[in-house]
Amino acid sequence: MLTYTYFGKDDFRLTEKPMPELKRDTDALVKITLSSICTSDLHIMHGSVGRAVPGITVGHEAVGIVAETGADVKNVKKGDRVSVNVETFCGECWYCRRGYVNNCISPFGGWALGCRIDGMQAEYVRVPFADTALTVIPENVSDRQALLAGDILATGFWAAKISEIKKDDSVLVIGAGPTGVCCALSALLKEPRRVYICDVDESRLGFVKEHYPGIAALRSDEVEERLRAECPLKGADIVIEAAGTDKSFRLAWEAARPNAVVSIVAMYDAPQVLPLPEMYGKNLTFKTGGVDGSDAKEILELISAGKLDVSALITHTFPLSEASAAYELFASRSDGVMKIALDCEGKNDFLFRGGA
Ligand SMILES: [Zn+2]
Ligand SMILES: [Zn+2]
Repeated sequence: MLTYTYFGKDDFRLTEKPMPELKRDTDALVKITLSSICTSDLHIMHGSVGRAVPGITVGHEAVGIVAETGADVKNVKKGDRVSVNVETFCGECWYCRRGYVNNCISPFGGWALGCRIDGMQAEYVRVPFADTALTVIPENVSDRQALLAGDILATGFWAAKISEIKKDDSVLVIGAGPTGVCCALSALLKEPRRVYICDVDESRLGFVKEHYPGIAALRSDEVEERLRAECPLKGADIVIEAAGTDKSFRLAWEAARPNAVVSIVAMYDAPQVLPLPEMYGKNLTFKTGGVDGSDAKEILELISAGKLDVSALITHTFPLSEASAAYELFASRSDGVMKIALDCEGKNDFLFRGGA
């Protein structure tokens, strides 16, 4: 079967691999319908994900059809249309029992798919812990609507959850890329006073204004002035940093009012410095890390109920066989690209674009 595989730094290639097989009774095989390209894939490509194992198929966000299940799998069956979670988790260890599934202690737990074991930019994938990693997609939710539920929408949903957003809060999301938009839309579900999103990229702000007018889109250089003018306490009550640059990291604590919660969900290519003498007395609460992706069912129910729809983020679609061109476009951020879906069904050897 066709896969897109990580061989080493700056070396991803289309490669034929044997069909995966079930290894444990808790595994399932999924025939991938759509997979997506994530910024984390670019981080692997750039060599900044130390855990990534050369030789693995990349891709950690997908929808597909269950093709086979192990003897102990109870929650899904052959033929089910499912969303695959970025994280696979045992559901039983100390961390899993508290919802901290990113730190599941199982060797197959946490972010394994497309990082430590073969992932989903492929025709088929073996999914460990299928009962927790796979979620049946409600009938009225399309594959495109469900595609981002396992990773970036899960990240946005989790970011909004850990940020302790209250009704009269002003929330600032830094970064109007796909993850930032998912954070902002998830923050809106908490019905705060206002949700702002900022970016240095005008085309991304334009995208937000066009598709999600409920979010106030600002240029990063106007954030301080606008928050000072519009927020009762002259700064954001909650900041979610989803951009991942040195400047955005600094803006995150600068734009926060004293005693704010600052959630850092971005992944950086370089270490960041907290200038504690400058921040002294601001008494911020920082939350950091990678998504605890255990809310797929709730997310898919919100999509089904019409309360959440991020499918507009999928601006381009390529067949899996054109993965290299898709990565090039995604990395270049040209042509208004937000998220790219890879059609993995193997029938399409043509290149098509747009929302269809
Ligand atoms: Zn990702
Ligand atoms: Zn666990």
